[in-house]
Parts: sequence; C-alpha cells; structure tokens
Amino acid sequence: MKNVLFALIDSSDKKFYLRYREKLNQIHSILLGKAGDCIVAGGLDSYISENKFSDLKSLYEFIAEKSQGRDVIICDAFAGMLSMDDTGRVLNYMRENDYDVCLTENLPEGLAAMCISGSFIEEFALHIEPNQKIVSSFKDIINWEYKGIDVGVYLSPSMLIMDRIEFLPVSRSSVDYILKYSSDESISTDSDFLRIDNAFYRDAPQYAAIEISSESDGFCTRELGAGEMDTGAFRKLITEIDELCPEALISIGVWGDPFTHSRFKDIFNILKAIPNPVLVECRSIFLSMEYVELVLSRENTQIIFDVSFTAEDMFKKHKKSPYTLEYTKNFLKSIPNKENVWIRLTRTPANEGSIKYFLKEYSEFMPRILITKADSFAGQKVVDLAPVKRHACYALRRELTIMNDGTVLLCRQSLETLGNIKNHSLKNLWDANKESFIKQSRKDFDTCRECASCDDWWIWN
Ligand code: SF4
Repeated sequence: MKNVLFALIDSSDKKFYLRYREKLNQIHSILLGKAGDCIVAGGLDSYISENKFSDLKSLYEFIAEKSQGRDVIICDAFAGMLSMDDTGRVLNYMRENDYDVCLTENLPEGLAAMCISGSFIEEFALHIEPNQKIVSSFKDIINWEYKGIDVGVYLSPSMLIMDRIEFLPVSRSSVDYILKYSSDESISTDSDFLRIDNAFYRDAPQYAAIEISSESDGFCTRELGAGEMDTGAFRKLITEIDELCPEALISIGVWGDPFTHSRFKDIFNILKAIPNPVLVECRSIFLSMEYVELVLSRENTQIIFDVSFTAEDMFKKHKKSPYTLEYTKNFLKSIPNKENVWIRLTRTPANEGSIKYFLKEYSEFMPRILITKADSFAGQKVVDLAPVKRHACYALRRELTIMNDGTVLLCRQSLETLGNIKNHSLKNLWDANKESFIKQSRKDFDTCRECASCDDWWIWN
C-alpha cells in the first residue's frame, strides 16, 4: 500500500495484557512486520508504546502530525490477523469515492482496518471530544450524523461476520488462534478463514452459568436437584474456571434464585478473588438490599431481577413469588445506583400481550430492561426468531451450565448431562462437549434429543 501510515493503537486492558504478555508481544511483532511504515500509540499505561497519551484527542492529534498528508490506516495494536488484502480494498474504496473516512460493516474488527483520508485527519482530531477514553476502534467515538463527516462503508461479499470469530485477542483461546494464524501466509483474505475448520476457535468456555440454589419461581422449566451448592464445591469450581477460562463471564443463577442460598454472602465473596465479569440472575423471590449492595460493590458485576409482569394477579399466578408486585417494584425503585441493574421479562404466552406496558412502566425508574425468551423445551414458545440458515450451536461452542448438585449439562436447553464436577475436572467435561460441536459444524444437528427442534442454537450469551 502506497502513501499510507499505519497507526496501531494499544487500548488493551492491562491485567489481560500482563496475563498473556509474551504471546501478545509476538502478535504485535507480527503486525509490525505486516504494517511496515507505522506508529504505535496508546494510553499512559501502555507497555508496548513510547507514544503515551492521556486521552483520545491528543492521540489523534499526534497521528495527524505524523501522517504528513498520507492516508492513515487505524487498527488495534494486537490485530495480528489483519488482512492486508481486505484493508487495501477498504482503502481503495475510500480513495475512489473521496470519502473522509472509511470503515466496514461486515468484516470483523481486527481483520480489516479503518481508514482516514490524509486530507481529513487533522479535522478528524478536532471532532473528538476532550477527555475521551483511548479506544482502538473509531466506530463509536464520533456522532457521525451531526458532524457532517463523509463516511464510506465498504461492504464485503464475505459472510465471515456470521461466524462471530474474535479477530482481536479477548480471551485465552483467541490469543492462541490469533498467534497461530497471524503468521500463516496462506491466509491473506477474509475468504481464507472460511476454509478453516471452525472447531479451532472452540477452546475454552466464555460463559459459565452456575446454579447455586434450587429455589425458583414459576418459570422453572426443569426439575432441579434438591439443595444448594456448598461453598467448598463452589470454591473448587471457581478455581477451575480461573484456570480453564480466566476471561469467562460467570453467571450465578440459572433457574434458581441465588439470593435464596443460605450462605449467599460467603458464596459471593469467593468471587472477589477473581477478575471475571459476573452476572447475578435473581428471580425476585428473595429480596435483600444487603445482598444487592454486596453484589454491586464488586467491580465488573451486574444484577438482573426477573419480574416479567405488570399486573398483580398475573404476577401472583405465574411468578409464584412470596412478595406482591407492588412490594417488588418499590424494592427495585429503592436501589440507589441502578447503573448495573437490569429488570427482565421472560417472554411467554402469559405476558406476550403486555410487553409494551412492561417497557413503559419499568423504564420510568430502571434504565436497563431485558426481554428474554422462555426455554425451548418448555412448551412456552411464543415465536421462533432463529435465523433461516442453521449453524453450529453457540452454546456448544462457548457455554458451560453447572447445576447445584455439580451436574454439568450439555447445555441449558438439553436434558442430557456430561458428568459431575465432583468426579471430573471441568476441563474434561468441557472437552466431552467438543464432539457435539464438531458434529453440528458438519451440519448434523441431532446432537441430543432436543437439538433437532431447538431454536436456541443462535443465542449468544
Ligand atoms: S441446539 Fe439447542 S439443545 Fe442443542 S446444544 Fe444447542 S442450545 Fe442445546
């Protein structure tokens, strides 16, 4: 590529960088070799760049100064799998059509870069608000509609985006496969990736749902083993998750309400030792402000309360909560900081007609509202929203569901089990699920009794 400057931006999370430092440095070096003439810039705590900035505006002013009239290609400093062919197409599209900037909608970030015209880069920096956080993507940093920037969007014929592969390192598995394929010269364009067996990017779970209590509401569609997960078993499980998948989101509560666990505080405090994002899924059948405050005191943690109804009689009939709806609402209203709190409606024939009232009523005091579907096997299906073309199930690729007695399920929609954490390591149980994913990758969707008629295979948790 002629007359261009590559700007490689380091906005990596420092804990993540230090965990995989050696491999990330190798990925960065591979990218430096591909990019040629480039500058590397990052935040004040960047380990890989000498060009450190306190905010995005000053970083872009620096890029503008260095560009000297050349078009600028912006990408993440760890985009080792950057396709120069696809990036060249984005650049040419910008040049041919005289756009100020050009990005792509249907190529994954990290595979193709975004471009800024050399004649616009100085003005681009002026558009950035002061004190904006440093990010490597510029898709979200500007309010395009109001600023009059001439934006080109290069649309590739590729369907690669459908595979939802991470082309930037965000987990142990993505670090490994990016390192593996970054230096593979037979892969130079998006279509080359479609030839690779997609089992390669199924390495560690990214979503681990843990049932700790069997006490549930009227939406429980599975017979839960009696009792609760003891703190020893939970601690062992968290240690194994930390080893197997240190970036996985840990969701506490599947059908049971975690707040009903008799030692919820002890259970939750175990999570303070690890940095993973955590989601606590409550059923609104045990409400405790002390627990809410404890949960929200942890960084990177969100809490969901399933309420599902707007009318007192329906709430009583279907939720089977010991509280009235009025009491539940007042409790939720009184949560002081709702930034990481969600209210959820589980969509079934019983509340299908009241979704718009639900949104109106709860959005008055809760900024975050979630609508979710009922389980496939529960006979509560309202509508099948699955895409027409079926692909290998995302749950088999990235999820683990562990019940309160230690049983690990094939997935939360299946009645099949893989074994128990008391007798097997979590890694062995995860590996036991690999065959099912490979079968589905080959378009054999009879992995278990429920798979053939399931409409949850496309849900990305
Ligand atoms: S297709 Fe459905 S039942 Fe089968 S593994 Fe995926 S989510 Fe589970």
